Amino acid sequence: MSSTRVRLITPVICASAALLLRYQFADKSLIDATSHLHFLLLQLPYILLALAVLIAVLSNHAQEAGATVSLLCAYWLIQSYLQSPLTAQPASQIFYLLTLFTPALIIAYALLPPISCRQIQGLVAILISPLIIIAVAGLLAIEPQLFLHTATSALANGLIDSHLSTLTWALYLIATSLCVGLCLYRQQSADSSLLGCALMSLITYGWIQLNSISAFMFAGMGLLITINLTISLLQIGYRDDLTQIGNRRALQQAAKTLRGPYTIAMVDADYFKKINDQFGHDFGDQALRVIATLLKQTADGGKPFRYGGEEFCLLFKGKSQQQVLDTLEAIRQAIANYDMVVRDKKHRPTKLKQAEKRRGASRRKSDLRLTVSIGVASSDYSSRDNRNRDKPRPFDQVLRSADQALYRAKAKGRNCIQAA
Ligand code: GH3
Ligand code: MG
Ligand code: MG
Repeated sequence: MSSTRVRLITPVICASAALLLRYQFADKSLIDATSHLHFLLLQLPYILLALAVLIAVLSNHAQEAGATVSLLCAYWLIQSYLQSPLTAQPASQIFYLLTLFTPALIIAYALLPPISCRQIQGLVAILISPLIIIAVAGLLAIEPQLFLHTATSALANGLIDSHLSTLTWALYLIATSLCVGLCLYRQQSADSSLLGCALMSLITYGWIQLNSISAFMFAGMGLLITINLTISLLQIGYRDDLTQIGNRRALQQAAKTLRGPYTIAMVDADYFKKINDQFGHDFGDQALRVIATLLKQTADGGKPFRYGGEEFCLLFKGKSQQQVLDTLEAIRQAIANYDMVVRDKKHRPTKLKQAEKRRGASRRKSDLRLTVSIGVASSDYSSRDNRNRDKPRPFDQVLRSADQALYRAKAKGRNCIQAA
């Protein structure tokens, strides 16, 4: 399943699981309201959300840390002030403000660029909710009737038979659509967490009168954020940041799971130093991303890894050298025929005529040649080595053979494939 789908489905699964568990335990009265278990259930969101805050701060994710502190504050307010009828004071005002601030903050956190907890903006993002609570508490101490009229009329005239105002529904619609859009558009686990928070906080406020709903939903949010943060931390260790494919450590891990025959192809960009020198390091980075994307798209059963620098490794499980040669040729051609666009203004031709000349000269820019050389080796022993024919060769040995074949491809003039 693609990571985009996982990012979209995980919050929905978490919200559904939290609802189902609440139905099982609370509706069927499996938990006595006076029991220790009930007390523990009420503390669970504090524990999970605090754990999520700790991981977010330690891993320097200010966006998630801020969102989780806001949830902790919201849960504390629900447990402390919303256990009486919503028509009472100050429950009505607090509920009304919570239903506005929660989706508004989710939108703000979703739009926040990645920032460090040590930056001043990061600290503001983390402390904004406690600061809002202190400010509102101060205002309510001076004027206890503040927001009372608005809150009471919003509660009485809620949209779709709920206690939620039109403005709250509109904010939740924006928050949910924004998070779904961001999950589809970019590779950040925070978007999936915020989508879950939008869904589960809406369920909480929409059914606030249901027994223990806030405990189950906020525990669900704490769990979702903790899981997403842990996954993104694991990915840092095994994913190459630039190309978003597995790194060398991921290749070593994959090597441990190899059982049957396999084939390895080492793919190295040709004259890459020249590309960097001529078009700049940023353009070189863009070229590496293009190579990784083409490897992913064309590898037909092979898994690409960034071995290091401008060198990639393709691992074909269960395939012989002969079976992958056509695929490797397709990869070589796809890269050689790819039309790289120079986006960097500094290296782009400035005069119109010059630009036209370059474009007209050939479809590819004459001074930009992005090609790769490929060395391939398989785990099969040669037919002469009868003793070991049934056992695959050790991974390091096959890798070395593929590397030697790559050297030969370079020596043969590059932009070609050599088999071991
Ligand atoms: P050959 O055809 O023999 O492989 O020549 P080459 O220039 O590709 O090989 P060489 O090993 O001399 O240079 C590799 C270059 O790749 C040098 C280094 O600056 C560049 N490189 C390595 N990693 C990155 C990266 O992450 N981004 C960019 N832009 N360049 C990188
Ligand atoms: Mg190279
Ligand atoms: Mg190299």
